[in-house]
Amino acid sequence: GMVSNRQKDEAIANFRFEGVLIDERPYGSGHINDTFLLTFDISGMGLLRVILQRMNKEIFTQPEELMENVLGVTSYLRKKIIENGGDPERETLNIIRTVANRPYYVDSQGDYWRCYKFIDGATSYDQVEKPDDFYQSAVSFGNFQRLLADYPAETLHETIKGFHDTKARFEVFKKAVEADVCGRAASVQKEIDFVLAHEDVANVFGDMLAAGELPLRVTHNDTKLNNIMIDDKTGKGICVIDLDTVMPGLAMNDFGDSIRFGASTGAEDEIDLSKVSCDMELFDLYAKGYIEGCGGKLTKKEIELMPMGAKVMTFECGMRFLTDYLEGDHYFKIHREHHNLDRCRTQFKLVEDMEAKWDIMQEIIRKYNV
Ligand code: ATP
Ligand code: MG
Ligand code: MG
Repeated sequence: GMVSNRQKDEAIANFRFEGVLIDERPYGSGHINDTFLLTFDISGMGLLRVILQRMNKEIFTQPEELMENVLGVTSYLRKKIIENGGDPERETLNIIRTVANRPYYVDSQGDYWRCYKFIDGATSYDQVEKPDDFYQSAVSFGNFQRLLADYPAETLHETIKGFHDTKARFEVFKKAVEADVCGRAASVQKEIDFVLAHEDVANVFGDMLAAGELPLRVTHNDTKLNNIMIDDKTGKGICVIDLDTVMPGLAMNDFGDSIRFGASTGAEDEIDLSKVSCDMELFDLYAKGYIEGCGGKLTKKEIELMPMGAKVMTFECGMRFLTDYLEGDHYFKIHREHHNLDRCRTQFKLVEDMEAKWDIMQEIIRKYNV
C-alpha cells in the first residue's frame, strides 16, 4: 500500500539525523521503492539532504540479505575510493544508520526503511539525450566493476534467485508452452520455435561457469542510465546507485543488458519491427566506455564474450516476455492487448539483428581487447 505520513514519521524518527527537518517530499522516478528527499537545517552549517526509501518487499523478499549486500559493497567501495584519492561522499552510496546503529529500520507494520546521504551536484537522467550519456553510464558501470574486482562475489546473496540463470529460465519457458494455460501457444508457434532453436544461447554461460572458465563477479543487474549520477559541472558519471539487485553474476550480463535496451533503435514494445535494430555506433561507444572503466580487471575471455552477453541478455528477456504471455501476463505489467508478445518480438528481432552483425560486433570488441 501507500506510505502514510504516520508510517513515514515513525521511520524518520528512528534514523540518526542531525538538525531540524524542514522539508520532506517524494523524490525521483524509481519504480520499485518509495523514495523521499528529506532536508535538514543544521544550525550554522546550512542544509543537509538525505534520501529515505521504503524498500519493496514484494519484489525483494529478503530485505536483510539485500541490505547485507548493500552494506558490504558500499563500505568496500568507500575504502577503495579513499585509497584512490576519490571523494567517498559522492562516488558511492553511503548508508545512514538508525538510532539503534543498524543499516535499516523495520517499522511497526513490518516494512523496511533505509537512508542514504544525498549526492549533491549530480543528476540521474531518465532518458538518453545524447550518445555521451550512454558512454558515461558505460564508464561508471565499468568503474564499479573495476573497484569491486577483488570483492568476494560469492559472499553476496542472490536477492532474486536465479535472476540470470538463462538455462533454468529456458526450462520454465518449456513448461509454460506445455501447460499453455491461456491457449495461446498455437498462435505464437513462430516465436516458440525461435526459442527452441536457440537452446545453445540459453546454455552457453551456465556451461562455461560450471566448467570454471568464467569468474564470478559483483554485478549490478539494473544497469540503466538513471541508476547513474552524472556530475552537473563536468558531465561525467560519478556514482552507481540503486544497488538492490547487486548479486554474484557475470560481467558480460551487466554489459549485455545495457546493450539490449540502450543500443536498440526502437522502443522495447515497438510494433513496427523494421524500426528495431542494434545500433553498432552505440554498441561501440558502450563497449569502449565499459572496457575503459573496467581498467584491465576483466579477463580477455570476458571481453571477447561481450557480444555474446548482449545476445544472451536479449534472448533471455524475449523468452521471459513470451513466457509471461503464455502464462497470462502476471509478471510484467501490460498496458494493451498482446503487449508482452510485442515486447518479445522486439527482443527476438534484436537477437536476429545481432546475429546478422556478429562479425562487426566481434570486430568492435577486438579493438578494445588489448
Ligand atoms: P528503479 O525503478 O530504477 O529500480 P528504485 O525505485 O529502486 O528505482 P532508486 O533508483 O534507488 O529507486 O532511487 C530513485 C531515484 O532517487 C534515483 O533515480 C535518483 O534520482 C534518486 N536517488 C537515489 N539515491 C540517491 C542519492 N543517494 N543521492 C541523490 N539522489 C538519489
Ligand atoms: Mg533506480
Ligand atoms: Mg531499483
